[in-house]
Amino acid sequence: MLTGTCHCGAIRIQAPRKPRRLTSCNCSICRRQAGLWGFYEPGKVKITARKGSIDRYVWGDKSLRLCRCATCGCVTHWLPTARASNRMGVNFRNFDPSVIETTRIRKFDGANTWKFLD
Ligand SMILES: [Zn+2]
Repeated sequence: MLTGTCHCGAIRIQAPRKPRRLTSCNCSICRRQAGLWGFYEPGKVKITARKGSIDRYVWGDKSLRLCRCATCGCVTHWLPTARASNRMGVNFRNFDPSVIETTRIRKFDGANTWKFLD
């Protein structure tokens, strides 16, 4: 079990294991926020948050809800809006840096081709 938190600690994320890779995406939102995403089935990740501490952002095709801390502003995770989707994203910038240092990072072209660039 890996645990990360936003900067102020209001949102805690518990992931079941290290991700096989982290994804750096260049889409319009990811390039601004510079998240490093690990993907999981939503049921395998535990999010604990103080009441009212999660701000959500939905845009475009409304396929996901991006979640950030209402107090410190750190982007912590995203959840699918469609029940059919079995994938969520966890931002490993909120975890101990050793996780990032020891995990392969791949560049994903979310802005155009939806393919990996490396
Ligand atoms: Zn916070």
